[in-house]
Amino acid sequence: MPDDLAHMEAAACSDPNGMEDAARRAGQGALMDRLREDYPVGPHDKPQSMCPAFGSLRTGLRMRRVATVLSGSACCVYGLTFVSHFYGARRSVGYVPFDSETLVTGKLFEDIRESVHAMADPAKFDAIVVTNLCVPTASGVPLRLLPNEINGVRIIGIDVPGFGIPTHAEAKDVLAAAMLKFAREEVAAGPVPAPVAGKSDRPTVTLLGEMFPADPLGIAGMLAPLGLAAGPVVPCREWRELYSALDCGAVAAIHPFYTSAVREFRAAGRDVVGSAPVGVEGTHAWLASIGDAFGVPAKQVAAAQDAAVRQIKESLANAPIDGVITVSGYEGSELITARLLIESGARVKYVGTACPKTEFSTADAEWLEAHGATVRFRASLEDDLSAMEGLQPDLAIGTTPVVQRAKELGIPSLYFTNLISARPLMGAAGAGSLAQVVNAAIGNRDRMGRMRAFFEGVGEGDTAGIWSGDPNLRPDFRAMNAKKMAKQARAKAAEAMI
Ligand code: SF4
Repeated sequence: MPDDLAHMEAAACSDPNGMEDAARRAGQGALMDRLREDYPVGPHDKPQSMCPAFGSLRTGLRMRRVATVLSGSACCVYGLTFVSHFYGARRSVGYVPFDSETLVTGKLFEDIRESVHAMADPAKFDAIVVTNLCVPTASGVPLRLLPNEINGVRIIGIDVPGFGIPTHAEAKDVLAAAMLKFAREEVAAGPVPAPVAGKSDRPTVTLLGEMFPADPLGIAGMLAPLGLAAGPVVPCREWRELYSALDCGAVAAIHPFYTSAVREFRAAGRDVVGSAPVGVEGTHAWLASIGDAFGVPAKQVAAAQDAAVRQIKESLANAPIDGVITVSGYEGSELITARLLIESGARVKYVGTACPKTEFSTADAEWLEAHGATVRFRASLEDDLSAMEGLQPDLAIGTTPVVQRAKELGIPSLYFTNLISARPLMGAAGAGSLAQVVNAAIGNRDRMGRMRAFFEGVGEGDTAGIWSGDPNLRPDFRAMNAKKMAKQARAKAAEAMI
């Protein structure tokens, strides 16, 4: 176990390569290889938004009767618990602290084991999720050696390092897949409890990806004419749903980045269908793929398509959007959102997603490119900003720093996570839902311009912040620092060539 790890906490976010090397030296080579395969990096290779572990933490916190325990640096845990409570976790987050000594001697693992034994009360929990953050992952804290269950409470250990998982979206996949694997092994071992809500008498489609609560209902309405029902949404809200999720006829990868969860479904013999029922063309194609997966007669599929498409066309006609839009985000639903915007009449010129390209997003990317959009997977913040600055759209939909920059430029903007992900996208309900917020934002351009003129020169560049006098500029220091950084970059490039 490398003894320099305890000093690397602060460096973890900013030095993913150093941490990855440390993890490999600590015997985590197989884990790192798996993460590289499931979550390929490039063009950017480190988190550019919140800590990725927030994705898996939130997924665990939203499950009933599931406890979550973090093992990581105090500063990381502070940030993660702060954000989870900001988003209304209403539940405690467990923490097993460490110091250099407990990390280096292996006592941290003993402390983790002790804490899960103390917590494993079957009256309270179905499962306890223990998450290794960057430093314990890099030092090889072996969560796989934890008992599988204690007193009937399942123990799930996962490694969610920022240097192996580039987005918090993909961290949700890590936990969802770990739970599916566990549940799949339970199913293989013998009978499991039936779902609380009972079992549908029709074959079900499991929906992969967190979505607005009205969307599964809308999807269920579109599946009914095919003789199918909507199954659970994965990530699930309680343990038993995992069994129903696995017990489906096919899986709809509504969000395309659940690579390891898909591996579990395939191991259970389930077919997986990509894209989503958004807009006229998206819904038409999606229903056809679902019909194929279940062998539904073509005539029945055509009738279901006609019924769904008729309603969607009506909703789109009642809620047109006119304007040039750029879309960027890290939720994984950027492509289907852009499709819906285009079908609503918008001219979407750029779609950037922090998620990687997968087989389930290929059709959406091709459709968008055929409709004039440039699609960038694993888009960096720099990609998103330069697209927005270059295109000067009527509306920029994006992440916080993109929206902030758009405001500085007087370009109307909307937060993807808070304002776009918080509405339905699927079927007829989705078709009408975006227009209201998008059109209102586009109509704000004059106001944005007036605000920009009012604040002109305030809080920009060297004048950012509050100053009692003029900022003490030292261009000589900057030049020196720039030289130092260029030298370091040259040395690193030379090292890489050896
Ligand atoms: S756990 Fe998250 S916040 Fe902490 S170093 Fe890793 S990526 Fe950064």
